[in-house]
Amino acid sequence: MHQTTPSETALDVSAVPADDPRASAAAQELHDRAPRGSTSVPNSEGLRLLAVHAHPDDESSKGAAMMAAYADAGAEVMVATVTGGEAGSLLNPAAAEIQQCHRDLTGVRRQEMAEAAEALGVQHVWLGFVDSGLPEGDPPPPLPFGSYAALPLELASAPLVRLIRRFQPHVVTCYDESGGYPHPDHIMSHKTTVEAYHAAGDASKYPDCGQPWQPQKLYYDRAFNPGRFRALHEALVAAGINSPFGERLARWESDERPDWLTNHEVTTQVPVGEFLEARDAALKAHRTQVDPEGFFFATPNDFLREVWPYDDFVLAHSRVETSLPENDLFSGLRGNP
Ligand SMILES: [Zn+2]
Repeated sequence: MHQTTPSETALDVSAVPADDPRASAAAQELHDRAPRGSTSVPNSEGLRLLAVHAHPDDESSKGAAMMAAYADAGAEVMVATVTGGEAGSLLNPAAAEIQQCHRDLTGVRRQEMAEAAEALGVQHVWLGFVDSGLPEGDPPPPLPFGSYAALPLELASAPLVRLIRRFQPHVVTCYDESGGYPHPDHIMSHKTTVEAYHAAGDASKYPDCGQPWQPQKLYYDRAFNPGRFRALHEALVAAGINSPFGERLARWESDERPDWLTNHEVTTQVPVGEFLEARDAALKAHRTQVDPEGFFFATPNDFLREVWPYDDFVLAHSRVETSLPENDLFSGLRGNP
């Protein structure tokens, strides 16, 4: 998220109408595709998961229900937020009336982050880097000196290596190589997480950052899974509800498909249906960034539970045996953590 462009959030009122013949076909397909098997994650005591995010609020819009589910199942879940979100702007019109938001937006965002972590039941650390901002213009201006995305890889990765060696996660999640969203901090957090994931277990690397610890699995978040938006769109249309996803899907399925929308196949769908309200509470805690009337709340939770009660991930690297597709990020690690 973070400075989402208006075209990404605009409601599309010209969605396919419910009496369109495609709607009944979609309803049948959805029925065939209805979720089966496990509807919750297994007991996860003794397991640890680290999720790396670029800015405060990213953790609540990507994989939040997954984290709440594992925390509830007994896992230790840690969110590492790389930057303080200093370059963010006030994105919720209602929050603009709160004076402190104009005086000290960074301070307000720290409070919001603490509330979101509590709503999800997760631990949280700041890695202390400075938000690079979203460069706008053609050509884009250079990144601010000293900002996170402008740093050398090793310097930007060291705090994450230190955190992995201290927290000792079995599983690490981050964005894919496109950032999952074209912001320099998102792309840099991918690079540093991949670097730290591979280096943390190697005593010869980052020798000043603690005793080696080797995480076993690395996942990329797939919140922008086109298949998910397609299924939700078709289900909304079939139910006669205006879908906010039509315009976006049309763009994604055309020659205008954005470069950042990579083709990674989803390997792992974590059942999160019971934790959508926790996700909502975390999102709403970020009141300067998230409009409670906005895009993230466009699909009713009961609908999500019916149609797509998962958070989607891509297994990017594993040191344990597992069989795909999975419905558990700790698959292959249980009984042998
Ligand atoms: Zn962000």
